[in-house]
Amino acid sequence: MAAASVASATGAFVDTHCHLDEILTNLKVFPPYERAATDRETIFGAGCEAVVAQFCDPAAFSPSFAVYPDLLGLPGVYAAFGIHPHHARYWSDDIAARVLEALTHERAVAYGEIGLDFKVNRSPPDAQRECFRAQLRLALSLDPPKPVVLHCAHAEAEMLAILLGRCLPSVGGASPPTFIATPAMPITPPRSSRPSRPCSSASLGSSPTRPRAEFAPRSPAARSRSPACSLRRTVPT
Ligand SMILES: [Zn+2]
Repeated sequence: MAAASVASATGAFVDTHCHLDEILTNLKVFPPYERAATDRETIFGAGCEAVVAQFCDPAAFSPSFAVYPDLLGLPGVYAAFGIHPHHARYWSDDIAARVLEALTHERAVAYGEIGLDFKVNRSPPDAQRECFRAQLRLALSLDPPKPVVLHCAHAEAEMLAILLGRCLPSVGGASPPTFIATPAMPITPPRSSRPSRPCSSASLGSSPTRPRAEFAPRSPAARSRSPACSLRRTVPT
């Protein structure tokens, strides 16, 4: 996590999109994560008050491999749960049930990250579409509602269409939800020359108000805080 240099300039911060399980694996920090509790500056970065860890690999929900209960026992660690589009081919009723169970954890604050990634297509596009739509339906069924963290790569127009009306009004009740694209997810018309971004995210919340979208460029500071979305682990169960 490239957070220390940011924190030294700006003070305390909260990292709202952190692949903590992958970061710890790369640092060779394993359960029960004593080092994560005692060496927070190295693991989380100086000034990091809290993180929202994205548990979006099906392995995160495997009974024999799940690490989130241990990580969510650490101070300042919160979670989003979902299935990343890279892993959409593993979507099943069983995985859905495990995600929903994880979302009942008291530290679960968001559904995600989910979305579409037609840049690398680690899962077939149709599997991504099915997984994304199914998870939007699940997310909108949560009570109380939670924000949704979105991943979008080379799929902006299709994702926007889904969010604006092809999916959400049919599952969200009488009032379409509000969604807000954060500075981490500039939504632009698709262009063949558009440079790719390693990881785009946004939040989506349920609201009785009309749909509203906010568009903003991703700042250099935001880029440096967000780890690249480089999910490499494969799925044991
Ligand atoms: Zn990510």
